[in-house]
Amino acid sequence: MFIHKKEIMVPVDIKEPDPHFGQYLLEQFGGATGELTAALQYFTQAQHTDDPQLRDMLLDIATEEFSHLEVVAHLIEAHTKGAQQAKAFESTLFSIRGKGPHLLDSQGQHWTASYVNEGASPVRDLRADVAAEAGALATYEALLDKATDEGSKKALHFLATREVAHTQMFMDALKAMNKLDEPNFGNFKPDDTVDLYFNLSSTGNPSDDKPAPWIENSSFKYIADPENAKHPRQK
Ligand code: MN
Ligand code: MN
Repeated sequence: MFIHKKEIMVPVDIKEPDPHFGQYLLEQFGGATGELTAALQYFTQAQHTDDPQLRDMLLDIATEEFSHLEVVAHLIEAHTKGAQQAKAFESTLFSIRGKGPHLLDSQGQHWTASYVNEGASPVRDLRADVAAEAGALATYEALLDKATDEGSKKALHFLATREVAHTQMFMDALKAMNKLDEPNFGNFKPDDTVDLYFNLSSTGNPSDDKPAPWIENSSFKYIADPENAKHPRQK
C-alpha cells in the first residue's frame, strides 16, 4: 500500500525559471537513468526475492525513488510553469508538449520498460542496481554542472547524495552474500578458461603489450600472442 504525503522530500525553490534546464531535467524523469526507471526496477525486483529483508530494502529504496521522481517533477514544473523567457520556452520541447514533466527524456524520447534491468536472481539484480545508481549519479553530476541557480543545485545535490547512499546499500547487500568481489554466482561451474586473459590487441611489439597492473598482478594467465597460441579447447 502506498500513502501519498503532501510534503516534498527536499524543498524546491526556483527563483529564475529556465525551460532549457527544465528540458535537461527530463533525463531524470522519463530517461534511462531516471527516477521512474529506478523505482520500477527495484519494485519489480522486490517481488522476485523470498528473503524478507532484501525484499524490504528493495521496496524501501523503490519508494524513496518515487519520492525522488516527485522532486524532479516539481523541479521541471518550476522551470517551465513560471517561465517568462518566451524565446527559451519556444526552443524547448515544452512548447509542443506543454509545461511540466512528461515521460520523455531530455531529447524527447519516450520512456520504455527496456530501461528496467531485472532478472529474478538477487545477485544479478543487485549488480544491475549498482550500475543503475552509477548511471543516475553520472546524470546528476552532468545536471549539477549545467545548473545555474541555487535552488536547483541544492535539490540535485541532495538527490545525487541519496544515489551514492543507495549504491552503498546495494554493495553492502552483495557483500553480505559474499558476492561483491566474486564474479560467479548461482550453480554455474566455469571451465578451465576462467582464468585466461587473451591479449587481442597485440602489436607484435612486447613493450606495447604490457598488461595492465590489475591483470599482471592477478590470478589471470596472460596469453600474450593468442593468434599463435594453442587454443585451450585444442589441448
Ligand atoms: Mn533516485
Ligand atoms: Mn537510487
